[in-house]
Amino acid sequence: MEIKPSPVQEIKEELFKEKNVRVFIKREDLNHPIVSGNKWRKLKYNLQEAKNQEHQTLLTFGGAYSNHIYAVAGAGKAYGFETIGIIRGEEIPPLNKTLSFAVSCGMKLHYLNRSDYREKNARNVKQTLHNLFTPFYEIPEGGTNNLAIKGCTEIIQELEHDYDHYCLSVGTGGTISGIIQGLKGSSNVVGFSSLKGSFLTSEVKKLNSEYSDNLYENWQINNDFHFGGYAKTKPDLLEFMEGFESRQGVLLDPVYTGKAMYGLYQLIHNDHFNSGDRILFIHTGGLQGRKGFGL
Ligand SMILES: *Cc1c(COP(=O)(O)O)cnc(C)c1O
Repeated sequence: MEIKPSPVQEIKEELFKEKNVRVFIKREDLNHPIVSGNKWRKLKYNLQEAKNQEHQTLLTFGGAYSNHIYAVAGAGKAYGFETIGIIRGEEIPPLNKTLSFAVSCGMKLHYLNRSDYREKNARNVKQTLHNLFTPFYEIPEGGTNNLAIKGCTEIIQELEHDYDHYCLSVGTGGTISGIIQGLKGSSNVVGFSSLKGSFLTSEVKKLNSEYSDNLYENWQINNDFHFGGYAKTKPDLLEFMEGFESRQGVLLDPVYTGKAMYGLYQLIHNDHFNSGDRILFIHTGGLQGRKGFGL
């Protein structure tokens, strides 16, 4: 289950020339033919751990358009696990593209209404799932745990160059925690929240403190580019993505990477970075999610 280093390429824009910054993109969207992106990094050591514990079944949680559900289903098929997806909300036939892919990989879907889903870590809901599906290896929603963070440190370890800033999209905070741990305090990390609110700074602090005793402070979460909240879009965002994609030949998604890239362009525009800075944008994948938006 080794992951080949994903390519890094420079993206060129008049704006970058004008501000004298260079921007590179690490194509984690190309790191696996099916699983792809940060979800593959987060799964790698979890799959090894499941194998070590001699589990045959993976159980995890997600919404109906979840990149993580898609990744677990694909990884289960590719690496020989049964998979169970606990899906938020009611079943809506016909299945959308994410869930029909999951089913085509053999994933068994089990729906939880929204209030039970919210309480999925409460004892009674856990007990119900155990009664139905034991034995299984549980992977949390979004895939974030210490093994996921360890997997994401490898995004940094395989780089051939250093950069002044590392930029990426943030959902649960697992991936950025791996980037922070991988950098060990050097350079600067900017995470763009895909969610409304400002709770991610404390969440990322918590994830890092659970992972190691090193308290790094060379990172920030930017909460200004959620475009109305998780999986919400605005015409402005979609227009930006279309322009970016046609100029650069690199696809983005409207839930995560599109918002983060938009945010990066805005920060460059607003002279947030110094002249001469080299910036690495980590493309976290998630392109299957475009289908939910008709892209
Ligand atoms: C899940 C996801 C994220 C968020 O990653 P976290 O580790 O949950 O912060 C970012 N980008 C893409 C494409 C994703 O699928």
